[in-house]
Parts: sequence; structure tokens; C-alpha cells
Amino acid sequence: MTSFESLGLHEALLRNVAAAGYETPTPIQVQAIPPLLEGRDLLGCAQTGTGKTAAFCLPLLQRLLHTAKPNRRACVGLILTPTRELAAQIGDNLAVYSRGLQVSHTLVYGGVGYAPQIKSLQPGCDLVVATPGRLLDLLRQRMIRLDQVEFLVLDEADRMLDMGFIHDIRAVLAALPEQRQTMFFSATMAGGAEQLAQSILHDPVQVAVAPSATPIELVEQRLMFVDPANKRALLGELLRDESVERALVFTRTKHGASRLARAMIHVGKGVEAIHGGMTQSARTRALQDFRDGKIRVLVATDVAGRGLDVEGISHVYNYDLPQEPEAYVHRIGRTGRAGAGGVAVSFCSFEEFDDLRGIERLIQTQITVVEEQPYHADHLHGMMRRPANRPSIRGSQPTNRFTRRRAFGR
Ligand code: AMP
Repeated sequence: MTSFESLGLHEALLRNVAAAGYETPTPIQVQAIPPLLEGRDLLGCAQTGTGKTAAFCLPLLQRLLHTAKPNRRACVGLILTPTRELAAQIGDNLAVYSRGLQVSHTLVYGGVGYAPQIKSLQPGCDLVVATPGRLLDLLRQRMIRLDQVEFLVLDEADRMLDMGFIHDIRAVLAALPEQRQTMFFSATMAGGAEQLAQSILHDPVQVAVAPSATPIELVEQRLMFVDPANKRALLGELLRDESVERALVFTRTKHGASRLARAMIHVGKGVEAIHGGMTQSARTRALQDFRDGKIRVLVATDVAGRGLDVEGISHVYNYDLPQEPEAYVHRIGRTGRAGAGGVAVSFCSFEEFDDLRGIERLIQTQITVVEEQPYHADHLHGMMRRPANRPSIRGSQPTNRFTRRRAFGR
């Protein structure tokens, strides 16, 4: 088995990786780190959960150890990523990997004030992690310069294209020096990703790894209509079932995750929360306890749960439905063992009808509703599943299947 030591990484990086609890490099790290340390361009076909963040961050940090310090408002490395959550997640990883190294990094994303970001960019910064829109804003305001960039990473390029960032990306690319090392990561090469990659990479090393997530077809998906006030009690009931060996519960907010974890303590065998508001070491500890089976239930937010790669998760619960339909697929793909899928149960309240519609449109399936549960909200079931102006018909399967198909075809 390949070790981190054999990849040519700096001693301090090896120390930090060990401190993060990584024992062996993942396949994408084995394939990507050596050529990146040599300065090659890279085309990586990989999703979250494969260890791709470390695959580009570790060589990037090492290369930055040997570059000249940037001028005022300039940076040497630039990582573009679609969302602020991903930017924050990369920032969390960088904080761990860069401990003890003289390499500075800062985050640039929208939805928050400009002043702190402008201030941290002012003296110059080795590495900037940015979402395209805010970066372009700051570029136009001349609060950041990109003419010293030697390393560029496009992370989740397909998602950035999906989100309509192509013009922003092109504008950013136009401000970069031609001479640079470029790393391009995308889960798929569809939707313009291929063309974009071809136009910016020079003789890239190509690395592809199969997603570690379970294909959606293998997951048994269930839907439970429930009023918000009953969600906790319902989850408690479900977790009492002994066939739930290892469960991952998703909530929308950090506070929601903490509160729910506390409320679920009574279901026994350990419950912990994991979210971006916790320190990296607390998160690592919670994750390790979950892996080791010391705790049975982990309550996570999307950001914390996305890349989570733990074997043997028997159940995923969507306590809150995600607002981004793609997140649903990421979440339920966390379940499954040795080629077999697990069970994914989604709660849906009235407020989440739109989220459910988005998810079902994306997966092109109507998730099977479980009526036999103590908190079944039949009025919600009726509103969501039965066509308007038809009397609600309870129970019988053939009728349900018929109405379901009709509702979906509308
Ligand atoms: P990513 O695909 O970059 O989102 O990473 C997924 C998760 O795997 C993150 O929680 C990382 O901290 C973790 N990770 C990355 N590399 C390794 C490794 N070599 N060993 C164990 N965990 C890792």
C-alpha cells in the first residue's frame, strides 16, 4: 500500500496529515500528488468524498513554500469553488494542512461584508480560496490582483458551470498570467466542463476515480410526511429500531444539528453532531467515534456530511430536506455496505414541498411514501401526492400508483 511518505511530501505536511488522522493516501491522492509536485497540469474526474481536496491542497502548499511572497493585494495560488460552504470547507482543510508552514490563505465569498475580505487581502496572501462572483467583484474594485498567480485550481468545475458562473470564470481567467500550473476537478465532464478544461490545461495528467458513494439505484428510498412538531418524536421512534446499525441524520442548520443530537441522546448507543461550527479537532473526534462504532448516530449538516466517507452506514435520515436537490443524492449516497445499498428516509413537512418537488424532478422518481408510521400527516400526503380537485382516496395501492403517475406527469 502506498504511503504518504512515498509521495514526496514535505515533512511538515506529513506531520499535519498524520495529525488529521489520515493513515494512507486515497487513490486520487496517490495519483495526483506526485505529478502536481512536479508542476504538471491536472484533469481530475472525482467527486467529494474521494479525498480530492487534500489531493490538490497538499502539493499546492508545498509548491507555495518555494515561491516568492506576493505583492500587496496579490496572491500566488487561487482556488475557485462554487459555493461559500465549499470555500469554507477548503479553508478548514487548509488550516489543518498548513499548520507550522509559513503559507497564508484567505477566503473570498459572497453573502457577507466586503471589508474583512479586503483587509485580509491587502498585505498580499499566498493562497486565496474564492467563489467566482465575489472574486470578480473584488477584482473590478481593484481590491485584489491576479497577475502574480502561479497556481490555479478549479474545484467542482461542473457545478460552477451549472450555477451559471462561466462568464465570471472566463473573466477571472483573463486576468491570470498565461504561465501557470492549472488543476481542474469535476465530477463529470458534461455540460461544457470538457471544453473549459481543454481550453485552459496544457498537457494535463488525467486522473479519474470512481465515486465512493453508493449509486442511487441501490438505496431504498422512503418518504414520511410529518408535521415539524412531530419530527423529533418520529426520528426517536425510528432510531429505536435495532436494525439501525449506524445512522447519519441530516439537518439544515448547525444549531439544528446540535439541538437534535442532544435531544436524541435517549435513543442510546451514542449520538453526536458534526458541523462547520465545531473545531476541526472536535469534528475529527466525532467522525472517528462514528467510524469506530463508539457512537451509532451522527447528526450532520450538508457541509460536514458531504465528504463523509464512513463504511457501514445502514440508514440516512433527511430530518430536513436539502434545498439543493443535488445534496439529496450526495446525502443518500453515504449509505450502503460492500456494494449493497442502505435505507434513506426523508421527512417532509408542508414547508418542504418545493424541496421535495426539486428532488423528485432531479431523480425522476416519486419516492415511496410510508404511511405506516405513528406521525403520518395524511393531510400533507393528500396535498402533495393527490391531484387537486380530486377527493382524497386513502390506502389502496393501485389507486395510489395511478394517482402518483398522473400527478407526476402534470
Ligand atoms: P474530500 O473528497 O476532499 O471532500 O474529502 C472527503 C473527506 O475525506 C474529508 O473529510 C477529508 O478530511 C477526508 N480525507 C481526505 N484524505 C483522507 C485520507 N487519506 N485518509 C482519511 N481521510 C481522508
